[in-house]
Amino acid sequence: MNQSLHLFQLQQIDTENDQINLQIEEINKRLINDEHLRQYEARLREAKQSLLLAQQALKQIESNVQSIRLKIETSESSLYSGKIRNPKELQDLQSEIASLKRRLSTLEDEQLEAMLTLEQAEQMLTVAQQDFSQAQLDHNQVQSKLLEEKNRLLSRIKSLSEKRKAILGSISADNLATYEQLRQRKRGVAVTKVEDNACKACGATIRPAELQNIRASSTIVFCSSCGRVLFAG
Ligand SMILES: [Zn+2]
Repeated sequence: MNQSLHLFQLQQIDTENDQINLQIEEINKRLINDEHLRQYEARLREAKQSLLLAQQALKQIESNVQSIRLKIETSESSLYSGKIRNPKELQDLQSEIASLKRRLSTLEDEQLEAMLTLEQAEQMLTVAQQDFSQAQLDHNQVQSKLLEEKNRLLSRIKSLSEKRKAILGSISADNLATYEQLRQRKRGVAVTKVEDNACKACGATIRPAELQNIRASSTIVFCSSCGRVLFAG
Protein backbone atom coordinates (compact mmCIF):
# COMPACT_ATOMS: atom_id res chain seq x y z
CA MET A 1 0.00 0.00 0.00
CA ASN A 2 1.22 3.47 -0.88
CA GLN A 3 1.43 5.22 2.48
CA SER A 4 2.23 8.65 1.05
CA LEU A 5 -0.95 8.56 -1.06
CA HIS A 6 -3.10 7.72 1.96
CA LEU A 7 -1.34 10.30 4.09
CA PHE A 8 -1.90 12.86 1.35
CA GLN A 9 -5.61 11.96 1.25
CA LEU A 10 -5.74 12.29 5.03
CA GLN A 11 -4.05 15.68 4.74
CA GLN A 12 -6.62 16.85 2.19
CA ILE A 13 -9.45 15.85 4.50
CA ASP A 14 -7.87 17.49 7.54
CA THR A 15 -7.09 20.67 5.62
CA GLU A 16 -10.69 20.95 4.44
CA ASN A 17 -11.83 20.19 7.97
CA ASP A 18 -9.64 22.98 9.37
CA GLN A 19 -11.02 25.45 6.81
CA ILE A 20 -14.59 24.45 7.59
CA ASN A 21 -14.01 24.89 11.31
CA LEU A 22 -12.73 28.41 10.68
CA GLN A 23 -15.80 29.15 8.58
CA ILE A 24 -18.07 27.83 11.32
CA GLU A 25 -16.28 29.97 13.90
CA GLU A 26 -16.86 33.00 11.67
CA ILE A 27 -20.53 32.10 11.26
CA ASN A 28 -20.95 31.65 15.02
CA LYS A 29 -19.53 35.14 15.55
CA ARG A 30 -21.98 36.58 13.04
CA LEU A 31 -24.88 34.64 14.55
CA ILE A 32 -24.46 36.29 17.94
CA ASN A 33 -23.75 39.72 16.46
CA ASP A 34 -26.95 41.78 16.38
CA GLU A 35 -25.32 45.20 16.72
CA HIS A 36 -26.98 46.43 13.51
CA LEU A 37 -30.42 45.52 14.84
CA ARG A 38 -29.66 47.08 18.25
CA GLN A 39 -28.82 50.39 16.52
CA TYR A 40 -32.26 50.52 14.94
CA GLU A 41 -33.82 49.53 18.24
CA ALA A 42 -31.99 52.39 19.98
CA ARG A 43 -33.23 54.85 17.33
CA LEU A 44 -36.78 53.60 17.84
CA ARG A 45 -36.43 54.10 21.60
CA GLU A 46 -35.15 57.65 21.04
CA ALA A 47 -38.03 58.43 18.68
CA LYS A 48 -40.56 57.21 21.26
CA GLN A 49 -38.88 59.33 23.92
CA SER A 50 -38.92 62.43 21.66
CA LEU A 51 -42.60 61.90 20.96
CA LEU A 52 -43.36 61.61 24.66
CA LEU A 53 -41.46 64.84 25.40
CA ALA A 54 -43.25 66.66 22.55
CA GLN A 55 -46.63 65.47 23.88
CA GLN A 56 -45.80 66.62 27.39
CA ALA A 57 -44.55 70.01 26.16
CA LEU A 58 -47.70 70.62 24.12
CA LYS A 59 -49.92 69.56 27.01
CA GLN A 60 -48.15 71.99 29.33
CA ILE A 61 -48.56 74.89 26.88
CA GLU A 62 -52.22 74.02 26.28
CA SER A 63 -52.87 74.07 29.99
CA ASN A 64 -51.12 77.45 30.31
CA VAL A 65 -53.18 78.83 27.42
CA GLN A 66 -56.34 77.55 29.08
CA SER A 67 -55.57 79.19 32.39
CA ILE A 68 -54.67 82.56 30.80
CA ARG A 69 -57.93 82.50 28.80
CA LEU A 70 -59.83 81.91 32.02
CA LYS A 71 -58.06 84.80 33.70
CA ILE A 72 -58.86 87.08 30.75
CA GLU A 73 -62.49 85.96 30.83
CA THR A 74 -62.78 86.61 34.56
CA SER A 75 -61.07 89.99 34.32
CA GLU A 76 -63.20 91.05 31.36
CA SER A 77 -66.42 90.11 33.07
CA SER A 78 -65.38 92.16 36.12
CA LEU A 79 -64.52 95.04 33.80
CA TYR A 80 -67.89 94.98 32.08
CA SER A 81 -69.95 94.12 35.14
CA GLY A 82 -70.21 97.75 36.09
CA LYS A 83 -69.37 96.91 39.67
CA ILE A 84 -65.98 98.56 39.58
CA ARG A 85 -66.24 102.30 39.45
CA ASN A 86 -62.92 103.52 40.78
CA PRO A 87 -61.04 104.82 37.67
CA LYS A 88 -57.65 103.72 39.05
CA GLU A 89 -58.98 100.21 39.64
CA LEU A 90 -60.54 100.12 36.17
CA GLN A 91 -57.32 101.26 34.59
CA ASP A 92 -55.34 98.61 36.47
CA LEU A 93 -57.79 95.97 35.33
CA GLN A 94 -57.54 97.10 31.70
CA SER A 95 -53.78 97.05 31.73
CA GLU A 96 -53.82 93.63 33.38
CA ILE A 97 -56.10 92.33 30.61
CA ALA A 98 -53.82 93.83 27.95
CA SER A 99 -50.80 92.16 29.55
CA LEU A 100 -52.64 88.82 29.77
CA LYS A 101 -53.54 89.08 26.07
CA ARG A 102 -49.92 89.71 25.13
CA ARG A 103 -48.91 86.69 27.19
CA LEU A 104 -51.67 84.65 25.48
CA SER A 105 -50.45 85.65 22.05
CA THR A 106 -46.91 84.49 22.88
CA LEU A 107 -48.24 81.24 24.29
CA GLU A 108 -50.34 80.63 21.20
CA ASP A 109 -47.22 80.99 19.04
CA GLU A 110 -45.48 78.50 21.30
CA GLN A 111 -48.47 76.18 21.04
CA LEU A 112 -48.29 76.22 17.24
CA GLU A 113 -44.56 75.51 17.42
CA ALA A 114 -45.16 72.64 19.85
CA MET A 115 -47.81 71.16 17.56
CA LEU A 116 -45.36 71.19 14.65
CA THR A 117 -42.67 69.58 16.82
CA LEU A 118 -45.16 66.89 17.85
CA GLU A 119 -46.10 66.24 14.23
CA GLN A 120 -42.42 65.83 13.30
CA ALA A 121 -41.86 63.51 16.25
CA GLU A 122 -44.80 61.38 15.09
CA GLN A 123 -43.39 61.18 11.57
CA MET A 124 -39.94 60.28 12.91
CA LEU A 125 -41.44 57.55 15.06
CA THR A 126 -43.25 56.09 12.05
CA VAL A 127 -40.01 56.03 10.07
CA ALA A 128 -38.09 54.54 13.01
CA GLN A 129 -40.74 51.82 13.41
CA GLN A 130 -40.58 50.96 9.70
CA ASP A 131 -36.77 50.92 9.74
CA PHE A 132 -36.70 48.69 12.80
CA SER A 133 -39.20 46.25 11.29
CA GLN A 134 -37.17 46.12 8.10
CA ALA A 135 -33.96 45.61 10.08
CA GLN A 136 -35.62 42.75 11.96
CA LEU A 137 -36.67 41.12 8.69
CA ASP A 138 -33.19 41.54 7.24
CA HIS A 139 -31.60 40.23 10.42
CA ASN A 140 -33.82 37.13 10.46
CA GLN A 141 -33.11 36.49 6.80
CA VAL A 142 -29.35 36.75 7.32
CA GLN A 143 -29.55 34.55 10.43
CA SER A 144 -31.46 31.83 8.64
CA LYS A 145 -28.99 31.91 5.73
CA LEU A 146 -26.10 31.63 8.19
CA LEU A 147 -27.76 28.70 9.96
CA GLU A 148 -28.38 27.03 6.63
CA GLU A 149 -24.72 27.46 5.71
CA LYS A 150 -23.62 26.23 9.12
CA ASN A 151 -25.74 23.10 8.77
CA ARG A 152 -24.30 22.46 5.33
CA LEU A 153 -20.77 22.75 6.76
CA LEU A 154 -21.60 20.51 9.71
CA SER A 155 -22.88 17.80 7.41
CA ARG A 156 -19.73 18.18 5.30
CA ILE A 157 -17.67 17.68 8.48
CA LYS A 158 -19.65 14.52 9.20
CA SER A 159 -18.98 13.09 5.76
CA LEU A 160 -15.28 14.06 6.00
CA SER A 161 -15.06 12.28 9.32
CA GLU A 162 -16.43 9.10 7.75
CA LYS A 163 -13.92 9.35 4.90
CA ARG A 164 -11.18 9.96 7.44
CA LYS A 165 -12.07 6.82 9.36
CA ALA A 166 -11.95 4.77 6.16
CA ILE A 167 -8.51 6.14 5.24
CA LEU A 168 -7.10 5.60 8.74
CA GLY A 169 -7.53 1.87 8.18
CA SER A 170 -4.83 2.05 5.49
CA ILE A 171 -2.29 4.04 7.50
CA SER A 172 0.15 2.45 9.93
CA ALA A 173 0.14 3.58 13.54
CA ASP A 174 3.72 4.89 13.26
CA ASN A 175 2.98 6.92 10.17
CA LEU A 176 -0.17 8.31 11.73
CA ALA A 177 1.79 9.40 14.81
CA THR A 178 4.41 11.06 12.57
CA TYR A 179 1.63 12.74 10.61
CA GLU A 180 -0.08 14.13 13.74
CA GLN A 181 3.23 15.44 15.12
CA LEU A 182 4.04 17.14 11.83
CA ARG A 183 0.56 18.65 11.65
CA GLN A 184 1.17 20.29 15.01
CA ARG A 185 4.64 21.51 14.14
CA LYS A 186 3.95 22.65 10.56
CA ARG A 187 0.82 24.78 10.99
CA GLY A 188 -1.50 21.97 9.93
CA VAL A 189 0.34 20.85 6.78
CA ALA A 190 2.17 17.56 7.32
CA VAL A 191 2.01 16.17 3.79
CA THR A 192 2.72 18.11 0.64
CA LYS A 193 2.79 17.43 -3.07
CA VAL A 194 5.80 17.49 -5.33
CA GLU A 195 5.00 19.89 -8.14
CA ASP A 196 7.36 20.89 -10.99
CA ASN A 197 10.13 18.97 -9.22
CA ALA A 198 9.80 21.03 -6.07
CA CYS A 199 8.23 20.70 -2.64
CA LYS A 200 4.94 22.57 -2.93
CA ALA A 201 5.08 23.71 0.68
CA CYS A 202 8.59 25.16 0.86
CA GLY A 203 9.71 25.27 -2.78
CA ALA A 204 12.85 23.14 -2.28
CA THR A 205 14.00 21.32 -5.41
CA ILE A 206 13.40 17.58 -5.48
CA ARG A 207 16.02 15.75 -7.58
CA PRO A 208 14.88 13.04 -10.05
CA ALA A 209 16.44 10.31 -7.91
CA GLU A 210 14.55 11.56 -4.87
CA LEU A 211 11.35 11.73 -6.90
CA GLN A 212 11.90 8.15 -8.00
CA ASN A 213 12.39 7.19 -4.37
CA ILE A 214 9.15 8.95 -3.31
CA ARG A 215 7.18 7.10 -5.98
CA ALA A 216 8.70 3.68 -5.44
CA SER A 217 9.38 3.53 -1.72
CA SER A 218 6.92 1.80 0.54
CA THR A 219 8.18 3.94 3.41
CA ILE A 220 7.51 7.65 3.60
CA VAL A 221 10.02 10.24 2.35
CA PHE A 222 10.47 13.65 3.95
CA CYS A 223 11.37 16.96 2.31
CA SER A 224 15.00 17.56 3.26
CA SER A 225 14.25 21.25 3.58
CA CYS A 226 10.94 21.60 5.45
CA GLY A 227 10.65 18.09 6.87
CA ARG A 228 7.15 17.42 5.55
CA VAL A 229 6.08 14.10 4.03
CA LEU A 230 6.32 14.27 0.26
CA PHE A 231 3.72 12.89 -2.09
CA ALA A 232 4.24 12.56 -5.86
CA GLY A 233 0.92 12.09 -7.62
ZN1 LIG B 1 9.58 21.19 1.72
